[in-house]
Amino acid sequence: MSDLSSSASSAPANFIHQIIVRDLEQGKNGGRVHTRFPPEPNGYLHIGHAKSICLNFGTAQKFGGKCNLRFDDTNPEKENLEYVESIKASIQWLGFDWEERLFYASDYFEQLHAYAVALIEAGKAYVCSLSAEAARAYRGTLTEPGRNSPDRERAIAQNLDLFRRMRAGEFPDGTYTLRAKIDMASPNLNLRDPVLYRIRHQHHHQTGDKWCIYPMYDYTHCISDALENITHSLCTLEFEDHRPLYDWILDQLAVPSHPQQIEFARLNFNYTVMSKRKLKQLVDEKLVSGWNDPRMPTLEGLRRRGYTPASIRNFCDMVGVTKANSVVDVGMMEHCLREDLDRCAPRAMCVLRPLKVVLSNYPQGQVEPISLARHPKDDSMGQRTVPFTRELYIDRSDFEASPPAGYKRLVPGGEVRLRGAYVIRCDDIIKNAVGDIVELRCSCDLATLGANPEGRKVKGVIHWVSATQSREVEVRLYDRLFTHENPDSAEGDYRDKLNPDSLKVLHGCRVEPSLCEAQPEERFQFEREGYFCADRFDSKPGVPVFNLTIGLRDTWAKIQNG
Ligand code: ATP
Ligand code: MG
Repeated sequence: MSDLSSSASSAPANFIHQIIVRDLEQGKNGGRVHTRFPPEPNGYLHIGHAKSICLNFGTAQKFGGKCNLRFDDTNPEKENLEYVESIKASIQWLGFDWEERLFYASDYFEQLHAYAVALIEAGKAYVCSLSAEAARAYRGTLTEPGRNSPDRERAIAQNLDLFRRMRAGEFPDGTYTLRAKIDMASPNLNLRDPVLYRIRHQHHHQTGDKWCIYPMYDYTHCISDALENITHSLCTLEFEDHRPLYDWILDQLAVPSHPQQIEFARLNFNYTVMSKRKLKQLVDEKLVSGWNDPRMPTLEGLRRRGYTPASIRNFCDMVGVTKANSVVDVGMMEHCLREDLDRCAPRAMCVLRPLKVVLSNYPQGQVEPISLARHPKDDSMGQRTVPFTRELYIDRSDFEASPPAGYKRLVPGGEVRLRGAYVIRCDDIIKNAVGDIVELRCSCDLATLGANPEGRKVKGVIHWVSATQSREVEVRLYDRLFTHENPDSAEGDYRDKLNPDSLKVLHGCRVEPSLCEAQPEERFQFEREGYFCADRFDSKPGVPVFNLTIGLRDTWAKIQNG
């Protein structure tokens, strides 16, 4: 399992942890802390979910408690097993473990049904025949009370009979609902006789065709929490107004426990969309290559892009847990990523846009093995061998025939150091018939291997690979998926704000030979270019495909530190 040193266990106390500390001091829940992460398998997890995962699993870790994984699977028409599997993989990848506690709300369908029957018997629920449209009209508004359903006073025996027949499949979708009998005049709309069950003749990924009535989220969630003896049910702020219903339902029933719901603020980002509906639309309309496209804010997308689990956990710690909704600068997450990659990514050289250099005074056919550190600050990573030869490639952007002022790289008649190797001077430029530069003729100062002789000043250092010993690879340069800071803003459709340059595929890039051994998901710093990782799916043994994870420039850190 990955390094967990930076998980929530070392995070400063947030308001939820303060509540838990108080509960423990007062001996509440017999000193237990038990949380759950409750995803609905209707899409892949995104970075917002990571905040909830880190909070729920991290809180359990911090207090020596437990955290369950529970699929909230009450909407079969939108759910499927592909989503279930990807959610499990993403949580494990983040470094968390639900051990043997994997549950589905659908595990409780029988119990939920029995509790519903108990509510009917107690006169606390009734079968309602209002259509969805009529029910909306009866519901009232924020300023006007609702009206009682004509079915509200139906006899208990008749409710029981109708509910039995709903379950038996006697009625088509939408003909009846089971509703709680609370208060149609409540200022809280969630308490105006909320629907507990609806009819859906729909196959379910866990229960097959056993059910044609499905419980609603609000009814299911609190009872599932209670059945699992959850102590602290952490959810996002939009559920604050649902808390009275959560408590009402548990108060009516002989459930084994009454968990405490606590709300916290969602994580929102600039330059992306995070609603599952929109992410699914991007996938369905093929605006991205899939849920795991490296530009997607999904955990599978971030993973494929090269994000480390530790960087995401650190980021979630840094964002903290509060009651105030806010938009976090995506630069902050990129900062956490760079910090982690700087520490753990070995260095290597890759020339993205090769320009040939021939060293006229270097022996033909000689292959000189140059040993370079894999990491400048971590000797334990050891050395790699980079072959040096007469013919090399440098990047096109590292040569300027007519350099602007202050240009420090290679220019006609000028000198530059090849990283870890020799100082070279450009003597001649070779052009093709249409005037493009195709090759540079340079001379190599053989007295300068790895170091400058006394008094010698060479400003620029550029990266390089051998022309004959390097390998050709494909490199995919990714940028933000949206050009607009807030794609969800009111003006226009979010899809019109997609960045047309979010993916550039480069062919014919050249890497030092050691990079051919790169394993899928292995991450590197390509010197002077950025952090890259070998694509999980498209890399073949000996032929990696590299994804740009993130560039080297950390503008966020600069802004924060003044
Ligand atoms: P929806 O319910 O619209 O499909 P959701 O984002 O709420 O989308 P869930 O699968 O229900 O998806 O979310 C699982 C858990 O993750 C919930 O407890 C939810 O509150 C939490 N969560 C979802 N999005 C965020 C976010 N942006 N920040 C923090 N927590 C989130
Ligand atoms: Mg939800």
